Amino acid sequence: AQQYLDRIEAHKDLNAFLDVRPEETLRQAEAADARIAKGEAGPLTGVPIAHKDIFVTQEWNSTAASRMLEGYRSPFDATVVSKLKSEGMVCLGKLNCDEFAMGSANENSTYGKCFNPWDPQAVPGGSSGGSASAVAARLAPIATATDTGGSIREPAAFTGVTGLKPTYGRPSRLGMIAFASSLDTAGLMAPAASDIASVLSKMVGFDPKDSTSVDLPAEDFTRGLGKDLAGLRIGVPRSWFSDRLNEEVRASIDKVIAFYRDHGAVIVDMDLPTARLGVPVYYVVACAEASSNLSRYDGIRYGYRAKDCKTMDELIRRSRNEGLGAEPKRRIMIGTYVLSHGYYDAYYLKAQKVRRLIADEFRTAFASVDAIISPVAPGVAYNFGEKSDPVSAYLGDLYTVPASLAGLPCMSVPCGFASNGRPIGVQLTAAPFQEARLLQLADAWQ
Ligand code: GLN
Repeated sequence: AQQYLDRIEAHKDLNAFLDVRPEETLRQAEAADARIAKGEAGPLTGVPIAHKDIFVTQEWNSTAASRMLEGYRSPFDATVVSKLKSEGMVCLGKLNCDEFAMGSANENSTYGKCFNPWDPQAVPGGSSGGSASAVAARLAPIATATDTGGSIREPAAFTGVTGLKPTYGRPSRLGMIAFASSLDTAGLMAPAASDIASVLSKMVGFDPKDSTSVDLPAEDFTRGLGKDLAGLRIGVPRSWFSDRLNEEVRASIDKVIAFYRDHGAVIVDMDLPTARLGVPVYYVVACAEASSNLSRYDGIRYGYRAKDCKTMDELIRRSRNEGLGAEPKRRIMIGTYVLSHGYYDAYYLKAQKVRRLIADEFRTAFASVDAIISPVAPGVAYNFGEKSDPVSAYLGDLYTVPASLAGLPCMSVPCGFASNGRPIGVQLTAAPFQEARLLQLADAWQ
């Protein structure tokens, strides 16, 4: 723990961490030592971990990178945090991200952008930019992150680390600061799939306090590691490899496909044409849910409160205006619009119907393949400021949002570097609850 704290201090300029409290980390490390001495340790006791600042924590501030929650201290730990804490994992602090997890480059954090350790000009990806940057720079051996429409997978690809978004409903959402509740999923980032496999088993599980939590028996996600790939069927969705895809990304993914073929997998030519509607559907659904979720920040119950207000209306208006950044405001407005009378049927209801079509298309596909291989992003990490127009940023999510809309487990696995030295990732998607299959495939390649 002390070694990681030293590295965090030495690489402060990455701005990966928003809250570090060495005395608290060392207190947890000592408690882990005591457990080990008493012979009560589990496999994760004493292993350090850092948490995205979307998870609420008792000992560290929980801000969602928003001024609205500046200095906010939660009275309880998120279920994901408390499950790992009870295993004896030692928390290193809280990680930078886009405000309320809205973004793809970590440029929307109130507390400053986070840097990509590979290249100071390159974005680390987002919204879990801090988790990605911290793992890539080895400031933490593993980190939690959240994925609503790609926020684990895209930053993992941009920083050359492994990221897993489990099946929706498998990890608890309790204590994850809400963005879009039907999509928000907790997951992990680490150097390798085998690291994720060991921690995931202790992170997921039924939570009676989360109404969408899935009640399934505990599972050993390491069981597929090292297993033969012979006979596994891997689908390659044709239209996802169109000319919009960067050539170097395509060439790297082709190498992974060849690797799987050489190791006995059957490569299946297929397509997922409806998934191209994913971006518009996602931004209608996610903004609609965000507009509802963020209505709780009214300056009255908790969070930022504007000073010297004369009326209740002014208090709410000014608190929200001063406390929320540009991207959450934009999404609240889009969401309120698509939910309003007269537009609800045209936008929100229509989006829900297409969401179902996308999910059905995947379900049909998984009747004949075990996994789907695709790009994570249309290119490698771009430069800061390059996608400052929100629509161009939204369009970059085309490969990640379909699995989110369908609630599927999905991974980003490092698979090479572009000629400018920036990492490339490949995306693997499986049917619901097939995380062990994904981890097996990722681990075989690694
Ligand atoms: N880039 C997407 C967005 O801005 C995804 C974010 C996420 O998964 N939290 O909404």
